[in-house]
This record gives sequence, structure tokens and C-alpha cells, in this order.
Amino acid sequence: VFILAIESSCDDTAAAVLHNDKVLSNVVANQLIHNQYGGVVPELASRAHQQNIVPVIDAALRKANVQKDQLTAIAFTQGPGLMGSLLVGSSFSKSLALALKIPLIAVNHMHAHILAHFIDEEGFDKPEFPFLALTISGGHTQIVKVNGFFDMEIIGETTDDAVGEAFDKSAKILGLPYPGGPLIDKYAQLGNPKAFAFTKPKVPGLDFSFSGLKTAILYFIQKKKAENPNFIEENLNDICASIQYTIIEILMDKLKLAVKETGINQIAIGGGVSANSGIRTRLKESEGKYGWKTFVPKFEYTTDNAAMIGIVGYQKYLSSRFENASVVSKARIQF
Ligand code: ATP
Ligand code: FE
Repeated sequence: VFILAIESSCDDTAAAVLHNDKVLSNVVANQLIHNQYGGVVPELASRAHQQNIVPVIDAALRKANVQKDQLTAIAFTQGPGLMGSLLVGSSFSKSLALALKIPLIAVNHMHAHILAHFIDEEGFDKPEFPFLALTISGGHTQIVKVNGFFDMEIIGETTDDAVGEAFDKSAKILGLPYPGGPLIDKYAQLGNPKAFAFTKPKVPGLDFSFSGLKTAILYFIQKKKAENPNFIEENLNDICASIQYTIIEILMDKLKLAVKETGINQIAIGGGVSANSGIRTRLKESEGKYGWKTFVPKFEYTTDNAAMIGIVGYQKYLSSRFENASVVSKARIQF
């Protein structure tokens, strides 16, 4: 089975070719245009997708050394995401599937962030059902009980900002360019995580809240800058390490509770923030500390990519979950 997968939910145009559960190519075109605006501009994103989609798909096919007429099915991101961005990927996928007379498969982007763990990669184990998934990305923060490929339930999620937003907004307060998550990670590695203390939000159960932390950081920085205008420059590593430490503590507290409540101790992380080196280290430590088995995806399958869409496409292909050409994109989608 050869699957061509197309992902265009936000600001990255991505295409991948899979042979069964193996990735033959995984191409991503980042849209750097948004950096100067400090966030993704939807109108610019859909235009850029339209420019990028053909070259990105051509590159994916070329790298995989697969011809269009060898393809078995086309998988695309149905949602959630920006409507104007999703439409570029879905319209293209529909036309190509019709032209090639092959099945069309719609994929939920958040399922894909979770099921990326089922890509066959040397050195990476696949979780066994049931397991817990912590999806931490730019738009979502969820703890999901995954019973099977198409049987998952959200048991906890953010009530306001996503964890990726917490990273990006904190970075913005520090004057760092967008997206600031990777930069906080970079500076945090050189700093002392206990240098500054930020209070953790009190949210009942398995839900999260990150907007209070952002405000706390804003007030803290304003106060310190009033005392010393160079406070950020002089303490950047320590500030980043302390912010990152607090965010990781919040995530780990909820994971511990989720393990206690479900009795499941296999944890898989996914989404862009799972690229974070601090989170990766803490999760690995938890194996010895709490007896968990943890799964951290290969770096290139953490932030948005089409290989993760392809692996869901492959699983859906095996159980003939196809769509006709009237399938619609959904900015918000039932989990
Ligand atoms: P969603 O998947 O919820 O629709 P998205 O697709 O925009 O959102 P992803 O591409 O999965 O999000 O993740 C992007 C987010 O990951 C950004 O907020 C970015 O700052 C964050 N991120 C990426 N690398 C790191 C890192 N090393 N440390 C912390 N955050 C990171
Ligand atoms: Fe994503």
C-alpha cells in the first residue's frame, strides 16, 4: 500500500509518502512569512499553501521514488485547523483522488499527532492499547485514553490556552521572536530551573489552565524590569529554565493523576511541544521513578508533518474508512 498524505491545517504545507507503515518521504515547507507578524495570519497561510502544495507533493513523490500511478490512496487533514488552510489540502486531495481513481481518506489532525507513534521507525517502540496520550501542541493540550486506532476519549484538556501558546506567549513577553517555544527550550538548557518560582494553577481533575501562568510571568517581568531595565538580558537562561520547569511540573502532575485514575502506565506524548528537551528528559526519568513506559516520537514527527497523517491513512485504508468527494473540511472537529 502506497499512501500519499497531505497536511495543511495551519502554517506548514506538508506531504509524505508511506509504504504501509514505513515513511518513504516526509517533506515540510515552513511558512516563514508569519514570523514578522508574531503569529500565524490565516489569509497569508492559505495563500502560501496554494503556492507550496504542488512543489511539496512533487518533492515528496520524487524523494520516495514513487510515481503518481503507483499510489493506493490519498489521505488529507480534515481538521481541526484554519479553514482557509484546510481547504487547500482537501480540495487538492479530492481532485487528485478523483483523477487517479483511488480512495480518499480524511484524517483528524489530533488523532494523527497521537498515532504518529505507529510509524515503523528503527529504534522506536510502538505503544500497546490501551495507553495514555499527552498531546501538547500550538492549539491543544489533551490527555487522551487511547483504546484502539479509532477508539479514543479525551479525559482532560485545557480550559484556556494550549501549552504551546504558554511557551509562545511567555517568549513574546521576553521579547523573543515567534514561535518562541523552541527558543525557550534552547535557553532553558543553560539556566537554573529553580531560579524563579511561578505558582501553578489549581485546576480540578485532569484539566489544564495556562492563561494564569502567562499573566503571572507578565507581572513578574514588568516588576523586575522596573527595578532593573536589563533584567531579561541578564537572566534570560534562568527565566526560561524556570518557565519551562513550571510548565513541565503542571504537565507531570496531571499525568501522575491520569495514571492513578486509569491504572494505565504507558504514556505517549505527541504534538509540537513534545519536541521540548526538558519534557523528553522528565518523561524518560519517570520510567525509573514511577515505573511508567513512555513513548517519545522521533523529532520530525512532533511538529506538524504529513507522515503522521499518512500512518492514520494507512490504518483507515486497512479498515476501508473512505470518503467521497463531498467530504467537508472542519475547523473544529468531533474528536
Ligand atoms: P495543533 O496541532 O494543536 O493544531 P499546531 O499544529 O499549530 O497546533 P504544532 O505544530 O503541533 O502546533 O506545535 C507547534 C507548537 O510547538 C508551537 O507553539 C511551538 O512553540 C511549540 N514548540 C515546538 N518546539 C518546541 C520546543 N522545543 N519547546 C517548546 N515548545 C515547542
Ligand atoms: Fe499540530
